[in-house]
Amino acid sequence: MTQRIALVTGGTGGIGSAICEALADAGMKVIAGYSNEEKAIAWQQDQKAAGKDFLIQHVDVTSLESCEQAVAEAKEKAGGAIDVLVNNAGITRDGVFKKMSWDQWHAVINTNLDSAFNMTRPVFEDMLNSGFGRVINISSVNGEKGQFGQSNYSAAKAGLHGFTKALAQEGARKGVTVNTISPGYILTPMVAKIDQAIQDKITAGIPVGRMGAPSEIGRAVAFLAADEAGYITGSNLSINGGQHMF
Ligand code: NDP
Repeated sequence: MTQRIALVTGGTGGIGSAICEALADAGMKVIAGYSNEEKAIAWQQDQKAAGKDFLIQHVDVTSLESCEQAVAEAKEKAGGAIDVLVNNAGITRDGVFKKMSWDQWHAVINTNLDSAFNMTRPVFEDMLNSGFGRVINISSVNGEKGQFGQSNYSAAKAGLHGFTKALAQEGARKGVTVNTISPGYILTPMVAKIDQAIQDKITAGIPVGRMGAPSEIGRAVAFLAADEAGYITGSNLSINGGQHMF
């Protein structure tokens, strides 16, 4: 069987790195998307030192033009079409709604939701034509339940569920699955920097009594990305230690 090619946006970030590693461990050729070049080159070198070889690709997920160019370049580098796309890049710009600016709103919608259009549009037709594809959208528990101070982020992440369910129907007969993963608190380097007292308060609200590890998201992505996962489409996998159930 030919080696599957995966493109992970935000691939050099906290959760993105773990997703790249899990897909590589599953035997895929992995391209990590990045926006910060200096960070990406250092990340690639660290990975190489640890014996892991990843391709890297610049992309600004807020721009359709940049995504089209990135997909064309990634295909060239990897030597084939993208079989697995993980829409993982995301940002937060928190604030209570009465003080939220249009820029705060728009930046988050653009990076977390418009990005799903911008990245998926250039790969989807290849997937339909090849008869195989996996699109995995990284949402959030806050897109399921809403979160104080995150009306922008919650709206964007909730939007990914509608996108997933609609697109899943368009890909279903062609071997292309589309799913969402909704992580709760994941202990990335960024979250680890939060004051310990606040971390303890957060952890106290999580039934399993700890935050998740990035590798636990990576493992779920690899599960959904596998050839054997062809009957799972239009679904949402909540990975939040029991923090939110419905
Ligand atoms: P990080 O900040 O570590 O990673 C975010 C990634 O997004 C970075 O690699 C960054 O790339 C990339 N990115 C941001 N803006 C752009 C852009 N315009 N174009 C391209 N890439 C961009 O965060 P996490 O790893 O924690 O988050 C990954 C995903 O998981 C996000 O979608 C987040 O919302 C979601 N999530 C995270 C949770 C957590 O607890 N950590 C919980 C629930 C969901 P670069 O560094 O190169 O700029």
